[in-house]
Amino acid sequence: MEKLLEVKKLKTYFYKNQEVIPAVDGISFSVGKGETVAIVGESGSGKSITALSILGCIPTPSGRIEGGEIIFEGKNLFEKSKKEMRKIRGNEISMIFQEPMTSLNPVYTVGRQLSEVFELHQGTKRKEGFKKAIELLRIVGIPSPEERAKQYPHQMSGGMRQRIIIAMALACRPKLIIADEPTTALDVTVQAQILDLIKNLKEEIGTSMLLITHDLGVVAEMAEEVIVMYAGKVVESARVKDIFKDPKHPYTRGLLASMPSLNNANKRLNTIEGTVPKPTEFPKGCRFSPRCEFAKKICKDLEPPLCDKGDRSLSCWIETKEYTEEVKNEYSA
Ligand code: ADP
Ligand code: MG
Repeated sequence: MEKLLEVKKLKTYFYKNQEVIPAVDGISFSVGKGETVAIVGESGSGKSITALSILGCIPTPSGRIEGGEIIFEGKNLFEKSKKEMRKIRGNEISMIFQEPMTSLNPVYTVGRQLSEVFELHQGTKRKEGFKKAIELLRIVGIPSPEERAKQYPHQMSGGMRQRIIIAMALACRPKLIIADEPTTALDVTVQAQILDLIKNLKEEIGTSMLLITHDLGVVAEMAEEVIVMYAGKVVESARVKDIFKDPKHPYTRGLLASMPSLNNANKRLNTIEGTVPKPTEFPKGCRFSPRCEFAKKICKDLEPPLCDKGDRSLSCWIETKEYTEEVKNEYSA
């Protein structure tokens, strides 16, 4: 599949109070044209910072890209000027955030905000923009779009606001949509409707999508590829069907075991003990080792590399066993 986005060894660090915070620590993945790739992991694993790095929106001065490349349509985004990046955001890459209220302006009507996207990015005139806005509200399933266009965000429900955010993200027919927990703030029924909407619209305009979520149910529903992140690293990545059929990394297995399903809805869920360590307190060796029931000495001493295993990439000593003879001798005891 032709690649649209390639993230190569991306490192995004924060610097605060003399501390180094390696929020994203050398991750690589790619998104093919028309493909949906999910990034999954518990809160604090570096998912949102990955998204913001791609968009060139890392909070400064505390945040810095410390390494790697982001190749979009064959060009390194880190070599683009601020002006070029602004053009890319909104025209070619757009973002759907978790909390609709923060991405909508409370003092403008939704019609005005949508038409502004057309005015700004496509040079459409105000009146024409408003017409396009109404059309878009219709497409995202908002009833009586003519009336709704004249309303303000606070006059709408959470689900409706999220539909408007989606409309804004799609307004310019972007090549890539980055959706960061797009349905987390919504109740389950609305969540399913919004996911359906995103999926259908995405297929209609042939956009690629990077979907960030902590919910494997959403991954199963939406994505073809999945990247499992833990503590700023990729621990496993593969086709979604392979991850669900045969998860290899103990962290991936833990995530799957803690997923509610029809079979275990009534049972207590197996959650992974403990929490993601703070980036200033990442342990030596495998960052998951303090929570891993299979961890051996090597896991606690040496960081496992991300290995290509054919059907997946995997970063785990127990599963890969690809360490050198020297390491093997030292740790076989
Ligand atoms: P996720 O989206 O997976 O929940 P984030 O990407 O938001 O996680 O954050 C990863 C880590 O980066 C956090 O645990 C936090 O320590 C650090 N981080 C995020 N934003 C900032 C910031 N503005 N300043 C300092 N550290 C930050
Ligand atoms: Mg996040």
